Amino acid sequence: MTKRYADVIIEIAHEKVDRVFQYRIPDALAEAVKPGVQVRVPFGKGNQEKTGYVVDLSARPDYPPEKIKAVSAVEEKAVSVEGRQIEIAYWLKSNYGSTTIAALKTVLPVKQKQKPLEKKKVLRCLSAEETARAAEECERKHQRAKARVLTALQAEEELPYELIRQKLHVAAATLQALEKQGYLCIEKEAFYRNPVKVTDRNEVRPVLNETQQRIIEEVLADHRAGHPGVHLVHGVTGSGKTEVYLGIIEEMIAMGKQAIMLVPEIALTYQTLLRFYKRFGDRVSVINSSLSAGEKYDQIERAKAGEIDVIIGPRSALFTPFANLGVIVMDEEHEGSYKSESSPKYHARETAVEIAVRSGASVVLGSATPSLEAYYRALQGQYKLYEMKQRPGVSMLPAVHTVDLRKELREGNRSIFSRKLTALMEERLAKGEQTILFLNRRGYAGFISCRSCGHVMKCPHCDVSLSEHRNGMLICHYCGYQERKPVKCPSCGSPYLMGFKAGTEQVEEAIHKAFPGARVLRMDGDTTRTKESYEKILSAFADERADILVGTQMIVKGHDFPKVTLVGVLAADLSLNQNDYRAGERTFQLLTQAAGRAGRGERPGEVVIQTYRPDHYSVVYAAKQDYEGFYREEIAYRELMGYPPVEHMLAVLILSRVQEEGERLGTEMTELVKKETEGVRGLRVIGPAEASIGKLSDVYRHVLYVRHSDYAALVTVKDRLEQFCKEQTLKNQSVQFDFDPMNTY
Ligand code: ADP
Ligand code: ZN
Ligand code: ZN
Repeated sequence: MTKRYADVIIEIAHEKVDRVFQYRIPDALAEAVKPGVQVRVPFGKGNQEKTGYVVDLSARPDYPPEKIKAVSAVEEKAVSVEGRQIEIAYWLKSNYGSTTIAALKTVLPVKQKQKPLEKKKVLRCLSAEETARAAEECERKHQRAKARVLTALQAEEELPYELIRQKLHVAAATLQALEKQGYLCIEKEAFYRNPVKVTDRNEVRPVLNETQQRIIEEVLADHRAGHPGVHLVHGVTGSGKTEVYLGIIEEMIAMGKQAIMLVPEIALTYQTLLRFYKRFGDRVSVINSSLSAGEKYDQIERAKAGEIDVIIGPRSALFTPFANLGVIVMDEEHEGSYKSESSPKYHARETAVEIAVRSGASVVLGSATPSLEAYYRALQGQYKLYEMKQRPGVSMLPAVHTVDLRKELREGNRSIFSRKLTALMEERLAKGEQTILFLNRRGYAGFISCRSCGHVMKCPHCDVSLSEHRNGMLICHYCGYQERKPVKCPSCGSPYLMGFKAGTEQVEEAIHKAFPGARVLRMDGDTTRTKESYEKILSAFADERADILVGTQMIVKGHDFPKVTLVGVLAADLSLNQNDYRAGERTFQLLTQAAGRAGRGERPGEVVIQTYRPDHYSVVYAAKQDYEGFYREEIAYRELMGYPPVEHMLAVLILSRVQEEGERLGTEMTELVKKETEGVRGLRVIGPAEASIGKLSDVYRHVLYVRHSDYAALVTVKDRLEQFCKEQTLKNQSVQFDFDPMNTY
């Protein structure tokens, strides 16, 4: 029997219409309407035309046939969702909570089909020796960007334009200048937008050590034996994990299978990409946020067409539709960016495991500081655990000094730099080596308050304090609201308004005072509003146009600066003060990663951790670079409190325009959950409460938490609450679900 009816998910982000609607398939469209295609359909009373996705076909109508409307057209321009992706979308919806349409859009990396386009590449015009001489010449003239390009071209005859622009931090004008000088030519090519093309594949392959070989063999043996499984590689930075990934992927390709390589966006460096290109040539591709829609589209098409075997990219690369997926590798598995911040709030790790199970693929997780989740499961035997404790070669781990800031103050040092840090910085300045100063959080304590009455200047739209900037403006870091700093306290009229300064700007000022003449670069949310400014700062530092780089979180990731021999963490414990069950874990990871920035070259590195809580286990174990020690303490705390990964936690976030309505909805939902789960042993309901940021962009936020050891029990709670929301007329409110949240709300 022919299937003449289509189940369609309408493209409206509203809980009310979050179900399938049935449409008749007209004869003319019988061929074209298939699961996954985008269609146009008349919708609602006025028969407004809407788009939607077909998720299923059936032969029999579910309603009287005369009441069923017909599909108007198939959207030829839209990318269709594959059957497997529809299944994953339903899994996302069910496990994380979201509308079906939001889940479908999540698994579609690109929504619209794209025209073919031209792609630029850069070719070397001189011989390798001449290019090397030109590079030296530029180096002598301090034209470091030019020198970088020429050095790269000396090794590779041809390089993708975008790779040079973005990963070598080189301006378009610089490349044009080099072209005029006759050193290189820029060529255009029309083909699938392949962001990479490396012709010279002369890679120097290290001889793998025993540990590396053993890991590769075990992963592959399990795969061949039909129980692919999840493998966690715990190895310090530089211990050779990437070589292990490369080895596994290579074997998968030899078996005719494909690989997804997940990397946090910020850690996707030129060096990493080049290693993959060298090994896999144009069978590898990359997808990330700096690609255009056209480039992304082409990568997905190439994957579907079997033109590539490996895709490298952040979270979203997970949904690349390979025909015969062999392995999903997830580097820096502990990274917070693997969790989606919008609904469905999925975690790439769990989703990778689900996709892998469905396609018979292996999962390989890697990290120097594994998430509590991954390590816990590994110790429980759900994942296989491998340890890589040593770096090949001579590169040593840095020496770490912990400084107690309370003691500094007691002994009369009021500066934000301890005496130890000051001394070591002076040494670096004298030797011409570089220093990175790391501040735990953007604009922290940059707030200003009244000395007479204690009034704190707050954003009128968000429940957060405003930060003071040098230009006399007060800024909200959440919504961008700005106002001029008032001359008098708006509450009591006192003229004594004072800022508690210790943001990155203030650190920069303090450096100028303490080390006149030192060249400083600052990198934070304010100096890096655009991608370009971010790259500019990094290349300036790489060119040694500064002695000291001051920054927040973003400077500790990925980048290697061989001349950096000192890392100072100014206030290590600030992230411990966040009212958050992951604060200890995040602090340990940050400190360990920050310490790993020192001494990446031949010269040994030193790290100074300044802290008010030198005895806190996160600080102590980070200073000792002792992951197991940290894990033991942290898991004991999670066990005691019933926090993930020991138990699962569902956060229900209620957003409302009117505060009382949010409160009421929170109370109703809490009571409902309590009533419905009365017989469920070990289930805990906490709240409702105002979120720690109670208002954001004029939207009030309330939260309730449900905890239980069984994830499925929480999914049932979520389903019930979703049902409840559908029955209500939620006008100015919405509800979001977050399983095992990365932050408490
Ligand atoms: P990770 O991914 O753990 O940070 P990498 O795989 O990037 O480590 O390895 C760090 C450095 O050590 C790289 O330059 C790599 O080429 C080199 N390396 C890796 N394995 C070996 C080995 N078995 N022998 C020599 N050098 C190696
Ligand atoms: Zn006042
Ligand atoms: Zn605001």
